[in-house]
Amino acid sequence: MAAVTVSQIVKEALTEIKNRHLMLTPENYTDVFNEISKKYGFSTEESRKIEKYISRLGGEYKNQALSLNIKTVDEFVAFMTARLGRGTSATKSNEDDVKTNQSLNAFARRILQAVSILHNKDAKALAEQGMQLLAKKYDPQTLDTMRERWFDFVSSYNDEYLDFLKYYGVKSFDDLQEMSKELENFLTVKNENSGIAAITELFIKMLEPSITTELGDKLDELTGIIKKNPLGLSEQDLQDKISSFVDLRIEKDRAEIKEKVGSLNVVLGTIGDKISDIAASSKTSSLKMQDIQNNLKDVTLNRTGIEQIRTILLNVASALEIESREFGNEMNKKQQTISELKERVSSLEKELEAAKLESKEDFLTKVATKRALMSELQKIEDAYKRYGIDYSLCFVDIDFFKKINDGYGHDAGDVILSAVAQLLKKHVRKIDFIGRYGGEEFIVLLPNTNLNDAVKFADKVRSVIEGFKFIYKDDRIKVTISAGVATRSANINETLTLESADKMLYSSKQNGRNQVMPKIIE
Ligand code: GH3
Ligand code: MG
Ligand code: MG
Repeated sequence: MAAVTVSQIVKEALTEIKNRHLMLTPENYTDVFNEISKKYGFSTEESRKIEKYISRLGGEYKNQALSLNIKTVDEFVAFMTARLGRGTSATKSNEDDVKTNQSLNAFARRILQAVSILHNKDAKALAEQGMQLLAKKYDPQTLDTMRERWFDFVSSYNDEYLDFLKYYGVKSFDDLQEMSKELENFLTVKNENSGIAAITELFIKMLEPSITTELGDKLDELTGIIKKNPLGLSEQDLQDKISSFVDLRIEKDRAEIKEKVGSLNVVLGTIGDKISDIAASSKTSSLKMQDIQNNLKDVTLNRTGIEQIRTILLNVASALEIESREFGNEMNKKQQTISELKERVSSLEKELEAAKLESKEDFLTKVATKRALMSELQKIEDAYKRYGIDYSLCFVDIDFFKKINDGYGHDAGDVILSAVAQLLKKHVRKIDFIGRYGGEEFIVLLPNTNLNDAVKFADKVRSVIEGFKFIYKDDRIKVTISAGVATRSANINETLTLESADKMLYSSKQNGRNQVMPKIIE
């Protein structure tokens, strides 16, 4: 019963009084309260009576009963029966107690003796220990431990194994004697047929082929004959039949194995090919692959052979794994080197770009760079503005330079470019300044030079180049230049002077190249 508190009982009693439309008088309350208490197993009337009994009991009993908190008559009766049953009542003498104890001990030992001859090794061992215990002086604690062990035995005991006996017609599982009788019956002549039937069943099982599936009909026929007359097994005719069936079975099994091994060989061949492909495509462990392939060729297909194949294939798998890991690592390393190189190249490119910008001398032609040229132009422009020192500008461009590149190669082009620059250098004055303005374009700054003198200079250079024997490897290459000249004092500023020289150069090209514009005014 669920635990219930006094306040719950009081609550329920009050609700009940309300439901029954009773007046809340002390009498009504007592009645209903007792009724509800009783429902929950608390009889107040009973309690009072029991209290009275307990108070009348002698010393130790009274204390025990009070400490057990006995509430109902049932509990009280149980308590008293237990006490009296043990014979420790204060009213009985010690002599009686000893006698009862001795009888109980003897009784328990007899039971244990009976158990010890039963056919269960655990029960027997436990019973023997129990008997030894009872023969000695014992105390409640040892007895409790022993009781626990018996409990374990009873709760874990499993007699399902007896079910096997059902196959032998045993039905009385609770009676060992009866069981053994039933077993005996099964094995005696009376039950000869069922014994033979079981053996026949086993025999037929043995005939079933383990590999081939072809012999179904023949097996059915043979088992039919054996089942019909099991005793016929002792006759030569049936024995011959069985013997030839077994021969056939062996033959069929062999054929089947051979076929299976054949297809396994095909698989092995394919694996071998694959391995040699792999070996050919990889360098690092190709030797190992070769070994594996050779091993595969040597394998003979029996049980250990199949075990060998398994090992070999596992080796292949692990070799491939190592291989691919190494390959991956190598790729990673290469990738890293490549990206390092890329970085290096791009930083070198930047450096080169910066160096080009900063450098004053053109690396190929050894004349001034455009940057240095422009800064020199600025200087002579300053001098023009400050001191009125005039200057001229000569724009030189090699004719059909693309054709030279195309016809003799870029290297030849380079040689010619620097040769033209050298010739220009050779024919300028000390105060003149040569710069490479673009690919095959040069500008010569001629300070303190008027247009006429500038044109003369340009035409001299033009004719020198025209007459010069440019030789690259075994080829003589014909080179001409065109030029355009302009003088600062005839223009608004230095930029327009440059533009006007460029326009003159354009006219030279238009007019048929290998010339200078404007023409000399004699
Ligand atoms: P044009 O008579 O009209 O000037 O004909 P061109 O072929 O000289 O004209 P264009 O300006 O079209 O061609 C210039 C060529 O010069 C193109 C370019 O490949 C080449 N070039 C520019 N710089 C260099 C260089 O440093 N070395 C070499 N080998 N060739 C260069
Ligand atoms: Mg050109
Ligand atoms: Mg050009």
